[in-house]
Amino acid sequence: MAKNEKKDSKNVSMPSDLKYLNRKRILQIIRNEDFISVNDISEATKISRPTIKKAIQSFEDKGLVISVGKGASTNAGGKRPGLYSFYCEKVILCIYLENERIYFTILSMKNECIREREVPFRYGDTFEKFQDILISNMYLILKESEICYENLYGISLAIGGFVERNIGIVRFYSKAPEWGRNLPIKAWLKELFPKQVIVVENLVRTAGRSLLLEEKYRNKRMAAIYTGAGISACYIDREVLTGRNALIGEIGHMTIDYSDEEVCSCGSRGCFEQMVSESRILNKLNENTNKLSCSTMKQWVESEDIIRHLFEEADKGDELAKDVVSYLAEMFSLMLKNIAINFDPEIIVMQGKYAYAGEYFKTELKEARKKAKFFPEETASKLYYDMRPLRELQKLGGYQELSKRFFDNPELYEEM
Ligand SMILES: [Zn+2]
Repeated sequence: MAKNEKKDSKNVSMPSDLKYLNRKRILQIIRNEDFISVNDISEATKISRPTIKKAIQSFEDKGLVISVGKGASTNAGGKRPGLYSFYCEKVILCIYLENERIYFTILSMKNECIREREVPFRYGDTFEKFQDILISNMYLILKESEICYENLYGISLAIGGFVERNIGIVRFYSKAPEWGRNLPIKAWLKELFPKQVIVVENLVRTAGRSLLLEEKYRNKRMAAIYTGAGISACYIDREVLTGRNALIGEIGHMTIDYSDEEVCSCGSRGCFEQMVSESRILNKLNENTNKLSCSTMKQWVESEDIIRHLFEEADKGDELAKDVVSYLAEMFSLMLKNIAINFDPEIIVMQGKYAYAGEYFKTELKEARKKAKFFPEETASKLYYDMRPLRELQKLGGYQELSKRFFDNPELYEEM
């Protein structure tokens, strides 16, 4: 990223790689702390104090760092060190669509939430109506938070469907077929916000990208399984992978049982998403009326949150709930096996509904995965359950993408 942008930025003298890396590191350390002294930065980075002082001066000139007074002296009678803090007026707008709601969040460059909005929309409405709702609320949230356009650095829009992020086109959104094909959302936003960085991306890949903010997930080969209304995955090999037709990660349509009777919206049979759908779970519960009549699941068959209740009842020992959870665990183990033989990730992260799976599911899944004999347990991918709400992950994913672009820009590390 840094290298490409170096080529792109004209009229800027090329920073030496070392200066770029040193200054980037210094700014990173200042960003991570509430306030910090030159000495502390020097100790943490082994960069000389004069170099740090020069860098801080340059960051102050650029409006990225401010002096925030003096700290306590380290030895008796010693000089009190000057303290510095990251300060930047630029903000990021993250937008995320799911379940007929649009969520808007303004974040600072330090990932602090400045303002949020949530508005309903309907998939059945026209694309023009959706555009109207989107744009009026974007203007509204900027106005409410008193952000001027110059200070809006970028906009991240996370949406379902087949999204070609390079050109920002939504090829097709199965939930809103009326919208038609090849929606040029990025080009439309760029016309309205010509100075801003615009990212239009699939919501599963946006949520997956949020993991890159954490040290334990960085520089790893990972698959993040997104379990919301549907099931899909984000494949990451240091960067988020998409593929020629943005198909990488469409694990909901992985064939698990071709002899299955139900035909999926993709035209195939036995797709993973259908094998574990809520209606399939209900069918399994209703298969044996005698069993259901003596099961604690009886009270939940009408519930909107049936998966959560199923996990809870299985954990409490209900036999029918345990049967269905074992079935789900088996389906997940087949899906994970297919991911392993195609992608072989080090880490798999479960996000969304299945992140709240109970202990019974986790144990059953562990057992079912052992059946895949060709990879020994100790080298199988590590499975994590990420219980943060999907909405939170969308915000973090949008922040990760835009803040990375902002802080990778070599102009930040050059003299004015
Ligand atoms: Zn399918």
